[in-house]
Amino acid sequence: MSEPVLTIKDLRVSYQTPKGKVRAVDGVSFSLMPSERFGLVGESGSGKTTTALALLRLIKPPGVIESGEVHLAGKNLLSLSEEQMRRVRLAELSMIPQGAMNSLNPVATVNNQIIDGLRDHGVNSPKHVLNERIADLLKRVGLEPSVADMYPHELSGGMKQRVTIAIAISMGPKVIVADEPTSALDVVIQMQVMETLIGLQEELGASLVMIGHDMGLMAQVVSRIGVMYAGKLVEVGTVRDILLSPLHPYTQLLVESLPSMESKLTRTRRPRGIPGITPSLLDLPAGCAFRPRCPKAIEQCSTITPPLEKVRADQWTACHLYGETEKQDGIPAKA
Ligand code: SF4
Repeated sequence: MSEPVLTIKDLRVSYQTPKGKVRAVDGVSFSLMPSERFGLVGESGSGKTTTALALLRLIKPPGVIESGEVHLAGKNLLSLSEEQMRRVRLAELSMIPQGAMNSLNPVATVNNQIIDGLRDHGVNSPKHVLNERIADLLKRVGLEPSVADMYPHELSGGMKQRVTIAIAISMGPKVIVADEPTSALDVVIQMQVMETLIGLQEELGASLVMIGHDMGLMAQVVSRIGVMYAGKLVEVGTVRDILLSPLHPYTQLLVESLPSMESKLTRTRRPRGIPGITPSLLDLPAGCAFRPRCPKAIEQCSTITPPLEKVRADQWTACHLYGETEKQDGIPAKA
């Protein structure tokens, strides 16, 4: 069996705020196999985007990566110099950011924005060769070559997102991190853009970490899902296990809140929300952070924080409901 291309071990990220330190990512560990598509889901503020930014070392002050390891193809990214890390971004690990409009430079043409990235990584081909490369990149993301001469404000939302995908794949990275890549698009365009992204990821043989909160979309795109709550991974499993036999009470409620086509047509079951509100990271409850909202809480939940442990063949969870004898330590990985 091949080795993981990306392994994250015990990653911790915090932000200093006027009210105190907030730990936005708290001991996150998982690994990703070559060509695998892995989804990170959770409510706003659960730590998904902070995890993604930390992988690329793009956390800005007052945020800080406190500890952990991020191994990409044999290198611990957290121990590289700034210059070494700059060379890794785009070439080996790239990001499709949330909100294409904000990530593109409004005063530069698409052509110049792609060339900037290429030149920054030592691609010094003559202009006509670069132009051909850009036309090919645009074609691969489903855009006409004429888009190269356009500015972001001249493009639709779907076109802008396709440009960010073209930039992200321009150096053929091993891993692509996509942060809610289609959340601002309508559902039809959303699926078209996702199909383009998946086609390119497969063509490159790259792995994909997809961040999102839409479990339905995730289920169509990724093969494994990690569920985050209050900065921690609380469950990791295959899409099938997460949707059909979730272990963690939070995942169970997330899945129950998904409307099925049958319930939409027959109106037999009203979608069920998750009781309570997300806890403030400044004032987390003792023990399990989900305890105030958990319908299955038991006594030890209020004092002991459950670690993420393997409960089934390819399913990990952080919950006291699962017996000690069945569990195994380690990093959630594809079985
Ligand atoms: Fe609920 Fe306890 Fe499990 Fe937390 S550890 S999810 S409170 S049962």
